[in-house]
Amino acid sequence: MRKFHFENGIELEFFGGAGEVTGSKAVLSAHRKRILVDCGLFQGEKTSREKNWAPIPEALTGLDAILITHAHLDHCGSLPRMLSVGFKGPVYCTPGTRDLMRIILLDSAHLQEEDSEYANRTGYSNHKPAKPLYTVKDAQQILRQVRTLAIGGWQTVVPGVEVQFTRAGHIIGSSVARFRIKGEKRDFHITFSGDLGHGRQETIAPPDPLPDTECLVLESTYGDRVHEKQSALALLQENIQQISKNSSTLVIPSFAVGRAQEVLFLIRMLEDQGRIPRVPVILDSPMAEDATAVYLSHPEDHPPNLGFERKQRNFFPRHFEWTRTAQESVELAKRKGPLVILSASGMLQGGRILHHLKTRLPNPENIVLFVGYQAEGTKGWFLKNYGKKEGSLRIHHEPIPVKAQIESIDSLSAHADANDLVSWIRSSPKKPDQIILNHGQPDATQSLAEKIKKELGIKVIPLI
Ligand SMILES: [Zn+2]
Repeated sequence: MRKFHFENGIELEFFGGAGEVTGSKAVLSAHRKRILVDCGLFQGEKTSREKNWAPIPEALTGLDAILITHAHLDHCGSLPRMLSVGFKGPVYCTPGTRDLMRIILLDSAHLQEEDSEYANRTGYSNHKPAKPLYTVKDAQQILRQVRTLAIGGWQTVVPGVEVQFTRAGHIIGSSVARFRIKGEKRDFHITFSGDLGHGRQETIAPPDPLPDTECLVLESTYGDRVHEKQSALALLQENIQQISKNSSTLVIPSFAVGRAQEVLFLIRMLEDQGRIPRVPVILDSPMAEDATAVYLSHPEDHPPNLGFERKQRNFFPRHFEWTRTAQESVELAKRKGPLVILSASGMLQGGRILHHLKTRLPNPENIVLFVGYQAEGTKGWFLKNYGKKEGSLRIHHEPIPVKAQIESIDSLSAHADANDLVSWIRSSPKKPDQIILNHGQPDATQSLAEKIKKELGIKVIPLI
């Protein structure tokens, strides 16, 4: 079941992020108006990515407004495409989401344009000429339609429907969206968790308690898992001590938004606690650099008492550099250790990180440290699981010997695990009447549904 009916003619229908973790899209209909909650891109396997090219369903045309819970591509990456069906309305989100979305959507549009140019040059496309999914101009246009709403405030989205954002604690700007829909006898509330955090990140405040709601739409990405509680700080400390002793290099492949900022601040914490010597730390990712500026400019999402909004230099490692141009990045190959290089992409699917691996993987004294999830089939997944066994990794059509140590920290997820999700439901002043589970692989969603039924006795509908 993908469509739900509630009192007063309220309807909710899912067009993505149901039985899967990407492509989040849900249409809320009330008072004869339609609001789209999230407009995500499908990512991952080819069959999933191909869905981005499917015609836009009738139900997503003639929308009155769009609301975005946070700036990750699987929640906002299809937004510019809505212009192709004539969407001219407002896009509501928090100020932090607006600022990150500007970076992420423009980057995505650049990549779409590059892909279509490449396809036309090489003839590698079923469509002639190949067109981008959307252009930079489209991304700029949809960004002009953004209206921000601060955490805690109320906004009328369409007559009779208001929305309030509370903190989701996932990335900067991430929000839980609570709709209040006017009814004759009583108001009805539907709340969307978006992606939920857990309060164990050093750079992001924990999620606010779940507000009072009749219906909750809850993500279930890690609905069948409890995260390892290993100390990221201790692991990072060990690796930095080792490269410092050997005068070698620590290469950290990292997502540009969120993870890169968390790791930089963890290194600074280790320095402040006197647990590591001072080593040069280089951020080699223009997108991560832009995202860091956004992170620092939204203290409303920082944990209380952190204080780096007042003294931004307290955020960065003591010997910190960033590279901007491709030339500066290339020249890093000549730098001798001890050295820490953070670069993207986090799953090694492209970007500057590949050049660093080419240079650093053949040396057994270097370390590659994974700090994020590696999706099956990606180069990162291969290196993490099979790189040492196979002995080499293909980069730019060349086999590179894997002699460096391969390590990983698996406790830095920005998503709530199964226990966090149940605790969050418990944090509400009143139990929801029903919960719809979305944004998860079927096993994860099903497992969370059973856990919620057993531990909380709430009616749950898993979208699988
Ligand atoms: Zn997310």
